[in-house]
Amino acid sequence: MSKHTFSIGGVHPHDSKISRDCAIQQLPLPPKVYLALSQHIGAPAKPVVEVGDKVLAGQVIAEPGGFVSAFIHSPVSGTVKSIGPQKDLAGNPSMCIEIETEGDEWAPGIDLSDTLITEIPADNKAIIEKIRLAGVVGLGGATFPTHVKLSPPPGSKCERVIINGCECEPYLTSDFRVLLEKGEQVVVGSAILQQVMGNVPVTIAIEENKPEAISHIREVIGKLPYKNIEVMPMKMRYPQGSEKQLIDAVMHRQVGSGALPISVGAVVQNVGTAMAVYDAVQKNKPLVDNIVSITGECLPRQANFQIRVGTPFRFIIDQVGGIPADAAKIISGGPMMGKAVANLDASTLKGTSALLFLTEKQTRRAPESNCIRCGKCADACPMGLEPFLLVRLAKAGEMEELEKNAVQDCIECGCCLFSCPARIPLLDHIRLAKGAVLGAIRARAAAAKAAAEAKK
Ligand code: SF4
Ligand code: SF4
Repeated sequence: MSKHTFSIGGVHPHDSKISRDCAIQQLPLPPKVYLALSQHIGAPAKPVVEVGDKVLAGQVIAEPGGFVSAFIHSPVSGTVKSIGPQKDLAGNPSMCIEIETEGDEWAPGIDLSDTLITEIPADNKAIIEKIRLAGVVGLGGATFPTHVKLSPPPGSKCERVIINGCECEPYLTSDFRVLLEKGEQVVVGSAILQQVMGNVPVTIAIEENKPEAISHIREVIGKLPYKNIEVMPMKMRYPQGSEKQLIDAVMHRQVGSGALPISVGAVVQNVGTAMAVYDAVQKNKPLVDNIVSITGECLPRQANFQIRVGTPFRFIIDQVGGIPADAAKIISGGPMMGKAVANLDASTLKGTSALLFLTEKQTRRAPESNCIRCGKCADACPMGLEPFLLVRLAKAGEMEELEKNAVQDCIECGCCLFSCPARIPLLDHIRLAKGAVLGAIRARAAAAKAAAEAKK
């Protein structure tokens, strides 16, 4: 049994990987796609098309709105029907480009063949530019533009690239299928990241509940011509795949409060991102599709679909026979960190990993009772926080104390909620408090910057 894991907190939810044996299938093209302009961390993208324009699959339809931002490409060939607000999965307005699908004709220069290209171009700057132009963002949940992560600030140095294949959230199996079915592309993508970061060692971290993926990737590494890429089997423990926890597990280094992984010499990318890097650099293919698990005990059929970004949830659900009668809740992502879908007309984003269907019984929360001060929430917190205290401070509106107690470090993993015998909705309170504290920190930084500018 592997000993590799993070040092504090964590929980052991049942892994429920019931879609693990479902090979990746192509989802048919939807009649319409809706591309959100804000589907990455950073500034929203700016449209470069107009209503009525004809577009090809893989063609740029929106350009970055700032340094931390990403290109967006059309996932189909068709006509731009509208540019304006559409309701997102929570029902909030989100600026989108609506495209009516007319076919699957791709922009010139994109290699859609299955031929594996293992020779990596020598020019690292050109590689990063290709990744930027392809709109690649982190597919492990954060959707941080990848080209930015690959351009560390002056003075910082990468010592190891970690490829996150843990997929520690229950139910999710898209990364597992990518490792099994696209292992070669993942390893070439990892080797590209290795070269760009200065030929540092690469660790592909995979939880030990995926032995087939561990042995397959080891076999692929053995066949390909790269050096210094290893597979590290990880102990099953949630949230093993969270960035700071993974760095702790692999490198035994702690990323400080508010600091970036590069501050301890680490660059972490998800296996899906490694595959997207391969597509961008070796095939000139932008990020226009991703692998999404469709899962849940109440569904008659489980699936892992390759889905064009911007596909409406309703279209996907129709492909698996509609919403089961006993489904009470649909979650985009996993049960621990995913978001409830309130609007079925919303569409997938680059970072969508799963649609999970849960029954009323699975979602029923036991009635909340008073805190019994058992400390289980603090024991479970992988960030070393005291959730019961944070909730008390949040209820009292003690913003300064919340900041002093590092509410902003919460990674919203839900371990505290999972552990609480009093069923207190800890995460709901903490998430709201974290948002308010981060807002105050940003406002303070902006005011300090403005004051410094005024002095000049
Ligand atoms: S949700 Fe936040 S407070 Fe709760 S266990 Fe996770 S990191 Fe800690
Ligand atoms: S786990 Fe729940 S009951 Fe126990 S200390 Fe934390 S908030 Fe209180």
